[in-house]
This record gives sequence, C-alpha cells and structure tokens, in this order.
Amino acid sequence: MSPLLRQWGRAAAPSPADWPGLIEAYRSWLPVSEATPVITLREGATPLIPAPAVAARIGRGVTVHLKYDGLNPTGSFKDRGMTMAISKAKEAGCEAVICASTGNTSAAAAAYARRGGLRAFVLIPDGYVAQGKLAQALVYGAEVLAIRGNFDRALSIVQEMAASYPVTLVNSVNPYRLQGQKTAAFEVVDALGRAPDWLCIPMGNAGNISAYWMGFQEYARAGRCSSLPRMMGFQASGSAPLVQGSTVEHPETIATAIRIGNPVNREKALAARAESGGAFLDVTDEEIIAAYKLLGGEEGVFCEPASAASVAGLLKRAEEVPSGATVVCVLTGNGLKDPDCAIANNDAAFHTDLEPTLPVVAGVMGF
Ligand SMILES: *Cc1c(COP(=O)(O)O)cnc(C)c1O
Repeated sequence: MSPLLRQWGRAAAPSPADWPGLIEAYRSWLPVSEATPVITLREGATPLIPAPAVAARIGRGVTVHLKYDGLNPTGSFKDRGMTMAISKAKEAGCEAVICASTGNTSAAAAAYARRGGLRAFVLIPDGYVAQGKLAQALVYGAEVLAIRGNFDRALSIVQEMAASYPVTLVNSVNPYRLQGQKTAAFEVVDALGRAPDWLCIPMGNAGNISAYWMGFQEYARAGRCSSLPRMMGFQASGSAPLVQGSTVEHPETIATAIRIGNPVNREKALAARAESGGAFLDVTDEEIIAAYKLLGGEEGVFCEPASAASVAGLLKRAEEVPSGATVVCVLTGNGLKDPDCAIANNDAAFHTDLEPTLPVVAGVMGF
C-alpha cells in the first residue's frame, strides 16, 4: 500500500471526495488538538504531474514533476497555510484577521476567515494585484484596503496593526502558516515514495521554501524518506533580494506574486539553502514568460507567472542537474489568477472578426 493510502487507512483506491483536508490528513504532524476548530475547504492532495517536455530540454535521464498547488480551493498554495492559521486564530478566540498581500494571501485569508466566521482585512498594493486575485478577495467578503505603496510597506503596516489592535496577523510571519505549508513536502514524498534530488521553488517572502524544508526534514527524521533534496530557490531579476543579499527598494517584475523586496523569512530561507546544499538564482521576466508558455503550451499546465519561475530557474541551471536526477518544481498558483498576463503573453493563433461562413472558417484552417 502506498504511504498515502496507509495514511488514509483504506485498502481501496481513495476517491478525492474522501480527502478530509490537510489538517485531518496530517493531524499528528501539526500543532492542533481536539480543541482546535478545523476550518477547511479540503485543501491539499494536489497532483504531482510528470513534465516530459521540461525534462526533454534537460535530457540525461532527468525526471521532472510539477507539484501543481494551483489546484487548491482558492487556486494557490496559500490555502495550506491558511487552513492552519485561521483554525488556530479561531481556537484562540480571535474575531478578525489581517494580512498584506500581493493577491493570493488575501484570497486565501478571505475565504478561510469568512468560512470560520471571522472578519478579514487585507492590504494590497493598489494596481499591482492580478485581476483574478482581487476578484476573489472581494467575492469571499474581505474588507479590502488598497494602499498607494508596495507589498513591503503594506506588510509593515499590518505588523504594527496586529501589535496594537485585536486582529491576528496571517502573513507568513504567523508560524502556523508554515506548519500548514510543510504538508506539501509530505505529499511530494508520499507520491514519489522518496524525496526528490532537487526541489525548485519561487521565492517571494520565502515562507514556502522554509516550509518545504521543514517538511522534508521532519519526514526524514521520522524515516519516511532517506535523503533530502537540494533546495533551489528562484526570484525574479527585478525583485531578487535573496540572490543579491540586500533589500530591494523598488521591486519590479511581471510575476506580481513574488514582487517583494524585503522578505520576512530571509533567515529561514538562508538556513534552508545552507543546510540542503541548495542555491538561489534570479530569472528574468523573459525567462519566466518562456517557461510559462512552455508549461501551458506543451505540458498543458496553466500556472501563474510567479510559479513558472521554478521551471525557468531549473532550465537556467539545467547543466548542473545530475544525470538521472528526480526534480520537483513547485507551481504555486493557478494561471487563471492572472488572465491579463495570459492574454498578453502567448503564441496562440487567434483569428478574430471572421465572417460566420463555412468557406471563411475552412479557409482560415487551411483547407
Ligand atoms: C505567495 C506566492 C509565492 C511566494 O511564496 P513565499 O512563501 O512568499 O516565498 C510564489 N508564488 C505564488 C503564486 C504565490 O502566491
């Protein structure tokens, strides 16, 4: 029986409808008790999808898988952290949560907070949040405050707010966020039956790379895997404080989810790199978009630009991947989040304003 089936305690192939959400699935690995009210949208259990077109560009028997976390309930990995953060906030009796967000945190915070009956306040950089994410925060019933400033400014305001007022901060400085997010590493090992050799991941605030590293280490300590991956973290060139080693005052990139100049989890991410023998590298917006198109057009996997940074980074480092290695690239968010980017960046044959007749359609098709 696969580890995942054992986890679920069933002999038969589980149906997705049976998945209880990651807190119940990994309860013994998480800081929850019987007293914790579990606020869940059945997040987690996202697919690990083989990526033969990416692997073919590397060759030498390298296998590449995509951890497609864009299939979580609100379309990003942020749901993994938010089910924990909101459940614990509710357990503590809190009535409102607050976050700064480049978009996905606000969508997840809003969905889980409202489901738990809490108020959700979200601060976003005005004009720099992808349409789909803004739509979600509004529909999930958040109270949205768009500031004339970037993410880093928004984060420092919400940190002060949470210190002075009765609101709980649910950015990734909240330790429960990383606890929930580490379950993605568990799922990767459960699916592969081992840890990958390389784990490629985009970095913004660098919470997710820290959470994955925690998850892999905990699984290794418990004997669930006998090796650990090298943690390969990628940032956009215009927003690469962890690669440059210093804060970026005015981060710029098409990948708005990682448009962060002063990552709060810097120390944890640096430790993950050092302990795993990993590396950080930046990728240009052009390289991000090339990977984004490759994933959509050849793998059939639509992710958001920030997510494609993991594949862009892998391809940039292709000659360093050991022959025969198993690589996992984390696709953090769903492509539908950012339709403007998709429509502006594709090589599709899109014929418009056609006469509605058979000869015209057949003619365009080349018949
Ligand atoms: C939040 C986010 C990231 C960055 O994750 P960090 O934990 O901040 O490093 C990357 N991609 C997407 C789609 C995100 O929403």
